[in-house]
Parts: sequence; structure tokens; C-alpha cells
Amino acid sequence: MNARSVIVVGGGLGGLLASLRIAASGHRVQLFSLFEVMRSHSVCAQGGINAVLNTKGEGDSVEQHIFDTIKGGSYLANQPPIKSLCEDAPGLIGTFERMGVAFSRTPEGTLDQRLFGGVKNRRTCFAGASTGQQLLYSLDQQVRRLETEKQIEKFEWWEFLAIVKDPNGRCRGIVAMNLRSLEVRAFRADAVVLATGGFGQIYSPKTTCSTNSTGAAASRVFQQGARFANAEFFQFHPTAMIGDDKTRLMSEAARGEGGRIWVPRQAHDRREPLAIPEAERFYFLEEWYPSFGNTVPRDLASRAIWKVTREMGLGVAGRDQVYLDLTHLDSHQVETRLGAILSIYRKFSGVDPLSTPMTIFPAAHYSMGGLWVDFEKDANTGGLRANSLRNHATSIPGLYACGECDYAYHGANRLGANSLLSAAFSGRVAGEAVSAYVSGLEQSVESDSHAAFDAEIRYQNQINHHFIHADGEENPYDLHRRLGSMMMDSVGVVRDNSKLNETVATLVELEQAFARLKLGEANPWANQTLAYARQVFDMVKLAQVVAASALARDECRGAHHKPSFEDPAPEHSQAGHKDFEAFRQRWKDNNQKWLKTTIADYHPDGPRIGYEPVDTSLIAPEEPRDYR
Ligand SMILES: Cc1cc2nc3c(=O)[nH]c(=O)nc-3n(C[C@H](O)[C@H](O)[C@H](O)COP(=O)(O)OP(=O)(O)OC[C@H]3O[C@@H](n4cnc5c(N)ncnc54)[C@H](O)[C@@H]3O)c2cc1C
Repeated sequence: MNARSVIVVGGGLGGLLASLRIAASGHRVQLFSLFEVMRSHSVCAQGGINAVLNTKGEGDSVEQHIFDTIKGGSYLANQPPIKSLCEDAPGLIGTFERMGVAFSRTPEGTLDQRLFGGVKNRRTCFAGASTGQQLLYSLDQQVRRLETEKQIEKFEWWEFLAIVKDPNGRCRGIVAMNLRSLEVRAFRADAVVLATGGFGQIYSPKTTCSTNSTGAAASRVFQQGARFANAEFFQFHPTAMIGDDKTRLMSEAARGEGGRIWVPRQAHDRREPLAIPEAERFYFLEEWYPSFGNTVPRDLASRAIWKVTREMGLGVAGRDQVYLDLTHLDSHQVETRLGAILSIYRKFSGVDPLSTPMTIFPAAHYSMGGLWVDFEKDANTGGLRANSLRNHATSIPGLYACGECDYAYHGANRLGANSLLSAAFSGRVAGEAVSAYVSGLEQSVESDSHAAFDAEIRYQNQINHHFIHADGEENPYDLHRRLGSMMMDSVGVVRDNSKLNETVATLVELEQAFARLKLGEANPWANQTLAYARQVFDMVKLAQVVAASALARDECRGAHHKPSFEDPAPEHSQAGHKDFEAFRQRWKDNNQKWLKTTIADYHPDGPRIGYEPVDTSLIAPEEPRDYR
């Protein structure tokens, strides 16, 4: 076999697993990251990673994991990838253990598992409340070993700017910028994998995502012709600690461990929370969703908090906040299992969650949508065909995507702790697929002409020159702030078409504002404002896709909620009841129209929105989603 070269952009869970897989197939990897890979956003993941191990003897099954994931996503995700994801999860946990991940264990020594949202079984493996860090560090160790063997070469502090295509439209490398020297350089590769994470920063500062979750890389390849899918499905996590500087997550694990959400029944009740008697507290999730209570899926929990605060006026102290209460739980147990988030809360609020309920509110958290990727179904198993070069291939030949930057596994709403799983699983699958792809290439990129690479370097340098020397009045930090507050206001937890129409128009104005930019920093070395301003521009381009996709979808599904198209479930949820059957029929009729993947294609005048069918070959959409 000829060893080929593959570029992996992104050193989070997805990118590192892809890199390891490609190296294991005998190909060379060049791994790019905005900073040390150990600081990738995966390191922030707190609560855990799902896999059916049934260590609690609750009769959990892989079939149930598949069903929960499909239902949690409102049937919008293609089902063959979900089947393989859930089937492979236990094996992935074993792999991580062998790499040295110290998962939390019970006193008896078995792997401990906790409850997360939208499920009835304890299925989430965890390492205290810093699971992502443990997983990422274990992969980093493996990558370092392969670095010493020269199979993987790291380029940290390099920013991906563009792919380079050959005359046949195939991706044959990238152009990247050294973030210290601003050198713009081309790197050849037989194929490229993007694993650049999500785009929560378009909602900044009301996002739990780190500053590198801009989506700029995905936006750049979108502008170069890669299709983008389901952009309107953005998850708002119900329990974030909103700060003026930054928003910090209080993991769903807090509710999985028994945390309760409530507000005082009386508006503007000024008493200290623990002075309010039980009877005067409104545990709204427990009342409205008695079956799942505080662990309903995130879309429902966020909307319930929205309703209680914005519509019923019951926010704590009249503000956008509700209580997340751990004070009734065993403090030793909570400290052991949630210590990492408790210390974040203490540090940034000065309040101890063990003695006073936390105040929280929904914030932008996770992009279900992302780069469109293909899959090949195995007719025998109904899951993914192993080693198919179609799996995780974007619409540009030779360009693959995995991790949060693709759209593949979560449909309209992701279940908690399914994302570390999908990032890891998709990294492995993309690694296998791209290895199959490059193994089949007749010609290595080394024989390609220089022309396309040189042209792309020139083009990127022109953009840098334009940004550095622009002498207008617009400030990139201010443009980002305007983008974030507009997106939160109109493409947030609740949406309506008149605001979305305005937002689509305002986003065009925001893009035009870049013609009047002034960076205020012309330094040709380590100029952080240049990289940042370019990212903000590409965030605006991506936000246009999100807003246009949201405007086009006239229904309520998962995280996309337009009250004017809402059809609430009837009081009676029993099959056979006439109200319920009438509701089920309306829901099915709506599925005929809207159970389809949104596909955005780039056009200089704005994204073009189309749709493609969803593969529902495993579980037919017969049961409306109901968590009451
Ligand atoms: C606070 C928080 C807690 C979470 N907790 C959980 C949890 O408990 N369980 C769970 O399942 N999920 C959790 N999630 C979600 C989960 O952490 C992420 O979805 C997942 O880690 C994403 O991994 P990734 O590999 O796709 O990307 P990331 O880990 O975000 O890595 C992206 C990589 O791409 C690189 N990159 C980006 N742009 C460029 C560019 N232009 N050029 C070069 N490199 C680039 C970055 O440097 C980085 O290396 C949490 C998310 C948040 C925000």
C-alpha cells in the first residue's frame, strides 16, 4: 500500500480520533489546531459520555439507546448512523479505559453511570465532572506517541483559512495562517478532514461554548461549495450560569444527580430561597413532565424556563433566572461527583451551591446542524457500512468532516452526553473512510501543479491586507457583540417569522459593515485582531445560513420552536383516545411536509435553502414525542 498524506484540522475528540485511525491505516497525518490540542473545546465537557453498559442492572439496551436518540432528535436524524453510533459506544468506552481514562467507579469497582436528560436509565459514564478533559488527555498521549514515530505531525497555533481544490473540484490540501507570524502557507494533502467543533460563538456572550467555537472553518468551506445541513437546529442548554463576561455551564449531570429546578410561586418573592416553604415553590418541570421531571430533554427544559420567566413573569427576583437546587442532596456525594462544576460556580458567583440554590438560565450550547456528510448504509445490518469511503464525506470530494462540525447524529435536538460519543465515534469512522479514500487514489497530490496552491495563498494574503489596512469606523468586537445579541434575540429559544425576516436583512448589513472595518492594529506579527476579525466575518456568513434555514422551516421540531406553528399535545396522551389519535394524525401530516433535512448551498447573494429526505428505515415516525 502507498502511504498517503491526510490533513486533519482540529485537535478535539473528533480530530484526535480521526488522526489515530488514519495513522493506524499507515497514512501520514498533519494535524492543525488554533492552539495546543489539549486546550480544544472538548476539554470543557463536564457530565459524561453515553454507552449502554447496564452496570446498574436497569435492563438498559442498545435498542433503547437508539430509540432514545432518534426520538430525542424528533426523528430528524438519519437512522443508520445512529444505529452504529449506539452499537459502538460500549466498545469506545473500553478503548478509552485501555488508554488510561479514569472513569468514576462504584465502591464495588464497576464503572459508575449516571442519569442524563431524555432517558430513563443510567447510561452515562463519567469522570467526576471533568469527563472531556480525561478523554482528551488520553487521546493526546496516543497522538504524542505517534508524533515521535513521525506518523503524525502537529501544527499548533495555525489557523485553517481555506481548502485548495484541483481542476476537478477535488480537495487537495489547505491554506493556513501561522497565528504568531501571520505567514500564510499552503499544505498539500491527498484528503482533508475537518473536525473544527461547533459555532456557539455566533450567540456570544450568551453561550457556554469557548472562544474557539466560531464555526469559521465550516463557514469557509461552505463558502467554497460544501453543503451545510440543519443549521436552524441549535441547542440552548437550560442550566447555564449567565455572566457579563462569559456564560458557564452547570452540567445536566446536576439534575441527573437529583438537582431540582424551581421558582417561587409568587412573582417577585424577595425571600431567601431556603426560607420559601416547599408548598410555595413551583417545581414546574416536575409538574408539567411528571414522567421525566427535571431530566426532560434540553429543548423542553429550556422552553419551560422561557415560559416561566418570560410569559408567566415568575423569574427569580423578576429576572431571567430560575433556581437549580442541590441543597437537599448529600453534600459529600455531590462534591465527589460534581466537584468541578461546584468550584466554577463558587469561583464566579461567590455562592456555595451546597448551601444556596444556583440561579441559571438557558444559553446557546451545541450545534446539531453542521457540514452535510454522506453515509453508506449496510443492507444487512441497517447500520453504517464499515470502511465505506462515503461515510462522513462532505459534498466536496476529498473533504471529510466529523465531530460537532458535522450534522449527522442528533437531528432536531441532541441528548446530553451523546456528543462526546458522536465526536469520538465520527472521528473514528471519518478516519476509516478517508483512509479508504486515499488508498484508492491513483495519483498522489505531490504530482499536482503549484498553480491552485499559489493562487489561494495570494487570495488569502489579499484578504489579510484588506483587513489590516481598512480605514473605516467599524470595530470587529462591536460587530461580534451585535451579531450575538441579534441571534440570541431572534434565532434563540423561541422564534417568529417577522423577527427572522428582519434578522436576515440585518445580517446582510452586518456583512457589508466589514467594508468599513478598522482593526486598530496594523502589526504584521502576532496580530490577534486580524484573525479574530476574519473569524467574525465568517461567523456572520454562517449566521446567515442559520437565520435563513430557521425562517424557511415553518413548524416546531426539537430546538426549533415557532409558537405560531405549535400544535400542543392534547391532555390525553393514551393511544386510542380520540383527541390523541387526531393529534397523532396532524403530527404525521406535518411530518409529510417537514420531516426532511435542511440543505443550504452557498450563493454570493445569500444561502439557497433546499431539503432532502431523512432515512427512517429503523423506527418509523409513528409516536409523537411526549415526555409527560
Ligand atoms: C461547557 C460544555 C460542556 C459539555 N459537556 C459535555 C458532556 O458532558 N458530554 C457530551 O457528550 N458533550 C458535552 N459537550 C459537547 C462536547 O464537548 C462537544 O460537542 C465536543 O467536545 C466537540 O468535539 P470536537 O472534536 O467536535 O471539537 P472541539 O473539541 O471543539 O475541537 C475543535 C478543534 O478545532 C480546532 N479549530 C477550530 N477552528 C480551527 C481553524 N480555523 N483552524 C485550525 N484549527 C481549528 C480547535 O483548535 C480545536 O482543536 C459540552 C459542551 C460544552 C460547551
